[in-house]
Amino acid sequence: MKHITDISELKTIINQYKSVGKSIGFVPTMGFLHEGHLTLADKASKENDIAVMSIFVNPAQFGPGEDFEAYPRDLERDTKLAENAGIDLLFTPSADSMYNCDPNVAVQVKRRTDVLCGRSREGHFDGVATVLTKFFNLIKPERAYFGLKDAQQVAVVDGLISDFFMDIELVGVDTVREEDGLAKSSRNVYLTEKERNEAPRLYKALQQGAELIRAGERNPEAVIKAAADIIGTTSGAIDYVELYSYPELTKQDKLEGKVILAAAVKFSKARLIDNIIIDIHEMERI
Ligand code: AMP
Repeated sequence: MKHITDISELKTIINQYKSVGKSIGFVPTMGFLHEGHLTLADKASKENDIAVMSIFVNPAQFGPGEDFEAYPRDLERDTKLAENAGIDLLFTPSADSMYNCDPNVAVQVKRRTDVLCGRSREGHFDGVATVLTKFFNLIKPERAYFGLKDAQQVAVVDGLISDFFMDIELVGVDTVREEDGLAKSSRNVYLTEKERNEAPRLYKALQQGAELIRAGERNPEAVIKAAADIIGTTSGAIDYVELYSYPELTKQDKLEGKVILAAAVKFSKARLIDNIIIDIHEMERI
């Protein structure tokens, strides 16, 4: 596996790959890799000639008071894990090299951000879209791999790729979970033992909501209430429990089509998110 930090060196290598017709699969991450990231890496490696992973804790997507400084980092361990997962090229640029200190242009996301995490994390998705535009231009991938655990991010990237006519296939990958259902996350290390025991209730709550929909419930408020009641039994503070069309992320009076039930909970040192996407049309056809 090649490990590159320098942008001009990266460009040279990517151009070499392109000149001999190699397909590139790209997995953007912030590191502190776990099985979720490695599933994306493995898929990228199997479906492309070259798998590229970036590890970059992107300052532009953290707001004031968020955990940019405290975000867990372990590049040495990550390097070994990435290589074992089939990554051919690991790109870990510095923040200075990615951002001009006085930028000329930043990407602003206009839709799909006034709900879920976007509502409380102002500017977060602008930071995500800006850094991804840079990465997509540098890495020139045919396919880009994103986890559906961050389903709002997938919806935003879907909008970015289509609005800017990017020739990139967006591959959304199912959430990888611990045995008890908790979605794997780099932030799980910040849960206390008590919180770790309670955290699987987040997914249980979403499953309960999905079960109601499967049983015929079409009133979003009833589904939200059922899920929120379960999450409310944890010591975490509910940030949101919401239900929208997916990937448009618009409110429905009566549930139909593809919908997302998503929740965020703040524990003492970690804010956890999770979601379930349910295709009601698909379900009704079965
Ligand atoms: P992050 O390092 O948190 O920015 O995540 C990098 C990529 O890994 C994103 O596309 C995430 O959605 C994805 N990811 C994170 N956790 C999981 C998980 N538990 N299952 C699947 N994908 C994940």
